[in-house]
Order: sequence, then structure tokens, then C-alpha cells
Amino acid sequence: MEMKIGVIKGDGIGPEIVDEAMKVLDRVAEVYGHSLSYTQLLMGGASIDVNGVPLTDETLAAAKESDAVLMGSIGGDAKTSPWYKLEPSKRPEAGLLSLRKGLNLFANLRPAVLYSELKGACPLKEEIAEKGFDMMIMRELTGGLYFGKRSTEKENGMLVARDELTYSEEEIRRIAKRGFDIAMKRRKKVTSVDKANVLDSSRLWRKVVEEVAEDYPEVKLEHMLVDNCAMQLVKDPAQFDVILTENMFGDILSDEASMVTGSIGMLASASLNETKFGLYEPSGGSAPDIAGKGIANPIATILSAAMMLRYSFDLDREADAIENAVERVLQDGYRTVDIMSEGMTQIGTKEMGDRICSYIG
Ligand code: NAD
Repeated sequence: MEMKIGVIKGDGIGPEIVDEAMKVLDRVAEVYGHSLSYTQLLMGGASIDVNGVPLTDETLAAAKESDAVLMGSIGGDAKTSPWYKLEPSKRPEAGLLSLRKGLNLFANLRPAVLYSELKGACPLKEEIAEKGFDMMIMRELTGGLYFGKRSTEKENGMLVARDELTYSEEEIRRIAKRGFDIAMKRRKKVTSVDKANVLDSSRLWRKVVEEVAEDYPEVKLEHMLVDNCAMQLVKDPAQFDVILTENMFGDILSDEASMVTGSIGMLASASLNETKFGLYEPSGGSAPDIAGKGIANPIATILSAAMMLRYSFDLDREADAIENAVERVLQDGYRTVDIMSEGMTQIGTKEMGDRICSYIG
């Protein structure tokens, strides 16, 4: 297969971790006979330094022309970096928001996996961590409360604030379809999370999700109220496969789920639109405190590259090969500093990438 990949290395540790993900992709291409081409794109602080703005129209157009975009992280130290002396709309993070909007990325995917080798980092009780978990949180990203009308007005001498929560059938249907498609590639279970006992938008959410489910008879659908889901994530996370939910609930639940894995350098993510296109990036930031030291954990970015192969190119076998290689490296006791524990062997960013490559093929 020919793959045209846009690459945004970004700021801080971004270039270091993206280089390792590209190394792993090259290894996959070599072993499985694919052809990769990379277009380097500037976004965030790196773009401000060259272009004066965090995202140019040309970069957005080039991203649109790619089959998928692999990204590191963007941003710097807000206290010391000159990027944060600029007005908010010119800062690195504004570039990311414009990119997501420009690419119409309405579905955010965040896996939360507890590897048995890293269960020591899991803050949950030992008997829960022992069972491990592997879930995918699918969050609607462009609708709901965060995008509704808002106002703060004085009424009868008192300030009153309002935020509107709106979802259309169409917005729910397109994310639900995406959620069921993802479940078909996994353990075929969808937990749709809402607050249907209170909110109209949640009642519509539930109705539309049930309609979409009819087209996926192999997938088991269950509904769960968001307050219960927040509890179940710490009580019995192993029960979840795909959690499908709206914007604000997903914002909160995906952070909760990533906290229970205990290791930020391991968390991949993807944002998808209606086509096969996706933006793939680690969940963590640009870690300016360790940038340039060669110690950042590249695994989240490498796992994001695996997601890209799975969801943008339907290369499940190749994605499995990367994920299995990551597990083997962990089983062999190799760790970057952020996931280091007693008795393990500490290695740097490049060596982690090399070791993962050595287990592919
Ligand atoms: P951060 O995630 O960059 O760092 C938090 C802590 O985790 C730091 O101690 C860091 O060293 C560590 N860490 C993060 N990723 C790591 C990795 N791969 N390997 C080893 N250790 C890792 O969060 P922050 O310090 O709050 O933010 C730094 C910058 O990143 C800010 O400018 C912020 O806006 C930006 N940011 C960008 C994104 C993105 O690009 N999507 C996301 C979050 C934060």
C-alpha cells in the first residue's frame, strides 16, 4: 500500500518521539512491503518561529492532502517561552485548535490500556489492576456544551450564566457509526454513556445510538449513566471495550481512564473525521522539562502510529505487530525513565525505538 503521511514533529520532545515512530513505521513498511512518503509540516511553536503564526493556510492544505497526519506535541514552557508573550490566538495551542477544526475532526479516540508489566504504576487496588484493562474511549469532539451558545447577564440584580448543550441526530449518528466500526475491530462491545435520566440531549443520544446499533448485530450495546461510568472505571475497568460518549462526558472520563493506567508516556490518541483521514498524536504534552535529553518515552507516539495503520489504512496485522513489539520490549524489562521501576533496565528514546523495531518481522 502507498501511504502519504503528513508529519508534524512539533515542539519540545515532539521531534525526538516522532523520529522513533517514523523509524517504526519504516520498519513495518520494509517488513510488510508498503511504501511510505512523509511531508514535514510546521505547526505550533516551530511554525511561529518560521512563519509568525502557529498554523498557515498552506500547512492546513498540505495536511488535508495527506492520507493521515502523525504529530508529536506542541507548545513550550508557558513561563519562559516567548511564544506565550503573543496574544492567545497566535500561541502554539491555537494552531492545534485550528488544525482540528480545519480538518473537521469530530471523533476523538483515546485508548487506555494497562499493560501487565506496568501494573505497579496503576493507582487502583491490586486485585483490580491484576485483571488488567484495554478500553477505547470515543469522545464526540465538536458539539455539545463546549460549542453551544453561552452568556452571562444580569437578571433581577444578579448575574446569571447560561451554557447551551445541543446535539443533532446527524452529529450523534456519525460518531456512533464510528464507535461501532471501532468496536468491530475490537471485542465488539459498546458502552454508550449518557445522562438520559435527566437530559434531553442524552435521550436523543440513546435513541440514535440504538438505531445505529441495528446495523451492527454482532456488537453488544449497553447504556450507562455517566455518574455510574465514572465509578465503574475505578471499580471494574476490565468490563469496558469501547466507551462511546459526548464531548464533556468524554473529556472527563478519558482523563480519568488515562489516570488509572498511571503512565502518560504510554497513551496514544487519534482524532478522526468522516473519511479515513485521522490525526494521530500522543496524549501527553511537549514536556519541555526533558526536551533534548534523549530520555522521553516514544511509546505513546509509536502506538499512535499503530492506530494510524489500523484506522486510516485498515492495516490491522501491521498495527498488531507494533503493539506486540511494544509488549515484548516491556516484558524484556526495558523502560524509559518515566516508567522505570526496580530491577528493570533503563534506556533512552532512541534505544526504545530501536528495540521495538527489532521485534517487528
Ligand atoms: P506534559 O504532558 O508535557 O508534561 C507533564 C509531565 O509528564 C512532565 O514531567 C513531562 O516530563 C512528563 N512527560 C510527558 N510526556 C512524556 C514522555 N513522552 N516521556 C516522558 N515523560 C513525559 O504537560 P505540561 O508540562 O503541562 O505541558 C507542556 C507543554 O505541552 C505546554 O505547552 C502544553 O500546552 C503542551 N501540551 C500540548 C499538547 C498537545 O500537543 N496535544 C497536550 C498537552 C499539553
